[in-house]
Amino acid sequence: LAERLQGFGTTVFAEMSALAVATGSINLGQGFPDTPGPPEVLDVARAAIGTMADQYPPGPGTPELRAAVAAHVERFRGLTYDPDTEVLVTAGATEALSAAMLALVEPGDEVVVFEPVYDSYAAAVAMAGGVLRPVPLTPPPADTEDAVWTFDPADLRAAVGRRAKLLLLNTPHNPTGKVFGRAELDLVAEVVLGAGLLLVADEVYEHLVFDGARHVSPATLPGLRDRTLVVGSGGKTFSTTGWKVGWTCGPAPLVAAVRTAKQFLTYVNAGPFQPAVAAGLALPDAYFTGIARDLQRRRDVLVAGLRAAGLPTISPEATYFATVDVRGVQPDGDGLAFCRALPERAGVVAVPAGVFWTAGHAHLGRHLVRFAFCKRDEVLDEAVGRLSRMS
Ligand code: PMP
Ligand code: GLN
Repeated sequence: LAERLQGFGTTVFAEMSALAVATGSINLGQGFPDTPGPPEVLDVARAAIGTMADQYPPGPGTPELRAAVAAHVERFRGLTYDPDTEVLVTAGATEALSAAMLALVEPGDEVVVFEPVYDSYAAAVAMAGGVLRPVPLTPPPADTEDAVWTFDPADLRAAVGRRAKLLLLNTPHNPTGKVFGRAELDLVAEVVLGAGLLLVADEVYEHLVFDGARHVSPATLPGLRDRTLVVGSGGKTFSTTGWKVGWTCGPAPLVAAVRTAKQFLTYVNAGPFQPAVAAGLALPDAYFTGIARDLQRRRDVLVAGLRAAGLPTISPEATYFATVDVRGVQPDGDGLAFCRALPERAGVVAVPAGVFWTAGHAHLGRHLVRFAFCKRDEVLDEAVGRLSRMS
C-alpha cells in the first residue's frame, strides 16, 4: 500500500456490515435504508435497462439529469447553474469529493474540515497529497432536548494557515446530525473569503432535516457562490444508496477541473440510473418534505428506545444517525470494543464514532457510538428491545 494511504485499511462500514452478516445481527451501523425508493424513480430505472441507457452516458452526465440537478438546486436553494457548464454527474457524492480534491489540491495544501469528519474525506485529501486541518465540534450533553454540537470560532480561524487551500464542509453533518446554522455559516464565509479559500459543500443529507431546523446551502451566502462546489447525491434522497448517482454544481472553471479528474477515475457511471434520478429530482415538494417527516418519526422511535434502554443519546437535527455515550455500559469507555462485542451482547451492530476523528484526536470521540435509524419500525423496535436486554 502506498505511503499516502497508510492507515486507511478497511473502512469501518465494511467491517461492521460484515460483522452484522456473520453474526445475523440487526445492522444499525452503515447508513442505508431497508425500504425501496419511490416507485416513480424505480420504474424509470427498470424501463431504462435494456435500452441504450445501458451504454456509456455522456461524460458530464445525461443532459436530462444535468437539467434536473440544476432545476432542483434552483427550486430548493435559489441557486442557478448552467446545466451544460456548471453541473457534473459523478459516481456518488464520494467521487465528486475525491475528484474535487484531486483536481484542486496540490501536495502540501491544507484542507480545513470540521471534526468528527466523514471517513472518505481524510482518504480523499490524502490521495491528493493534501493535509487535513480539523476544527473540533464539541458534543452537547446526551439526553438533553434541543442540544447541538458547537465549535469555537477561534478554532476555525486558527485552522486556516498559510497553506490552506479549501474548506470542506458537510451540512447536514455525518456523523453528528448537526445542521450548520446561519450564524455559523456567516463565520465560515468570513474565513473562506478572508483567506481566499475554495469551499466544497457536501449536502447529501439536504432533505433529511427535522423539527424546526433549516438547511442553508453555504453557496447562498454572499460571495460564496463563485468559489463553492455544491455536492449532492440521489442515494439518501431516493433510498438508492447502491446506485451511486451524485453530482456537483459550481462555477464553470471549478466544475471543469473536477470533470478532468472524474474522466480518469470512472469516466462515466450509472447509465440507467441517471434518468431515474432525474425523474426523482423533479418530484413535487411533498415528496421531499414527506421523507423528512417519516425519518423524523423513526429518529424519535430510536432515540426514545435507546434512552429507555439506559443509553444516553444525542438526538440529531438531521441525517440518519443518533449518537450514544457508551461509558455507562462499557467500563473502559471504548466505543470500538463496545461495537465489536455488541453482536454478542445484543445482536445489534453500530459504528464506533471514534473513527470519524483524525489520528491525534481519536480520544475525543472514543466513548461515542453511532446508530442508524433509516430502518423499518419493526426493525428499530426489535433492535431497541434487544439493547434493553443487553448482557
Ligand atoms: N458524504 C457524506 C457526509 C455521507 O454520509 C455519504 C454517504 N453516506 C457520502 C458523502 C457518500 O455519498 P454517495 O453514496 O452518494 O457516494
Ligand atoms: N455514508 C454511509 C454512512 O455513513 C455509508 C457509506 C459507506 O459505506 N461508505 O454510514
